[in-house]
Amino acid sequence: MVILQTHAKKRGSDDWGQGHFGASRGGRLHNGQDYLADVGNAVVSPFYATVSKIGFPYSQAGPSGHYTPEQKSRFLAKRGMRYVELDIGQQTKVRYFYVSPHPNATVGSHVNMGDVIGMVQDLDAVYDGMPLHVHAEVWLEGKRINPDEWWLNRINA
Ligand SMILES: [Zn+2]
Repeated sequence: MVILQTHAKKRGSDDWGQGHFGASRGGRLHNGQDYLADVGNAVVSPFYATVSKIGFPYSQAGPSGHYTPEQKSRFLAKRGMRYVELDIGQQTKVRYFYVSPHPNATVGSHVNMGDVIGMVQDLDAVYDGMPLHVHAEVWLEGKRINPDEWWLNRINA
């Protein structure tokens, strides 16, 4: 069970990079916070919210050129990744990446705190050896902000 910023452990530093907001990703910055989770773990909503989007973190373009069977399988796994976005009001949205949406978590549906919104997907099928995790983004007025700072401000408010 993964609840943003409460029960989940944060991803630290590993061969693939670091899990915190603002970590380097080559030419760009990591714009969320990663929380360690196992494949098939239930992801639950920490809020009363409306499911506002079910999306794809990666391009859905078809494979072109020559791939080894392993490359092709990783490509397809990448394309199968999903995210679930929750609108929690006050111009704030939270996105959970690498989460296969629960059948009840359809766009426009309401979820209560503790409701399952999906299951953790197998990121290792995309990136060999990367610690399995959920990537969480917090969007405030259309901009991504540090999920941890946001959460601390929220619980201390
Ligand atoms: Zn991430």
